[in-house]
Amino acid sequence: MLESVFVFIFGLCMGSFLNVCIYRLPKEKSIINPRSFCPHCSKPIKWYDNIPLLSYLFLKGRCRQCGQKIAWRYPVVEVITAVLFLFLYVQVGFNLLFLEFIFLFSVLILVSFIDIEYHAIPAYICIIGILGGLFMKAVASWPMLKEDPLSVTSTPLFRSLKGMIFGFGFVYFFKLLGDLFISVLLRIRKKDSIEGEKESLGLGDVDFMGMIGVFMGIKGVVLTFFIAPFFAVLYSVFALMFRKSHLIPYLPYLSLAAITTFFWGHKILAVIF
Ligand SMILES: [Zn+2]
Repeated sequence: MLESVFVFIFGLCMGSFLNVCIYRLPKEKSIINPRSFCPHCSKPIKWYDNIPLLSYLFLKGRCRQCGQKIAWRYPVVEVITAVLFLFLYVQVGFNLLFLEFIFLFSVLILVSFIDIEYHAIPAYICIIGILGGLFMKAVASWPMLKEDPLSVTSTPLFRSLKGMIFGFGFVYFFKLLGDLFISVLLRIRKKDSIEGEKESLGLGDVDFMGMIGVFMGIKGVVLTFFIAPFFAVLYSVFALMFRKSHLIPYLPYLSLAAITTFFWGHKILAVIF
């Protein structure tokens, strides 16, 4: 129980750090300097106004100095991160797998919220995700390799490399297929669209799925790829019902699908097959 509380608080703090990254990375600002400040009045935020979630509730969502609203994203990201970390802890306990997936989930939250706000993500984020994942899988594989170097094909690292290559290839194939379909459609309608609209999936989606392959293997890539459209459709229905025409880019759906696959993938596979 005490450990669960600790994991939840750790998640809130991590969420708070992710918020800083979401705000600063796309603007190419340092995530260490300067200290947190209010984006409206630029005044630095005192430590007691910077406590995850609690400060937001205590200040009723407004800056103490200028009274402007604090974006909803701040408490939302903190709570999502904390809940995910707690779920993960309950499922796997405290071990290397826990470290691997708090890392992955953090990257997923980061890319999703940057994508929602900026409709593009810095390319290096998924690369860092891939390298971090491969490093942790290598650490997990080391005892097996030391015991028997010939067991290389049954190590987590090997499974990750296969997953990564498959993730890249699989999504790239669908991207080519989608691009072809769009260009044929445009030719039939005799329309020239502006540049960005000719792409089905972006290269960011390809990197992203390579990263999913590193952490979750080939099955994880396939499940994630086919679950994501369901979330996209669900959101469209919701948006239609509430007459919100706010288009969301694709990475948040892929992230939701990856998290669903991690927690419930086995059950979903068992129901289908
Ligand atoms: Zn302010």
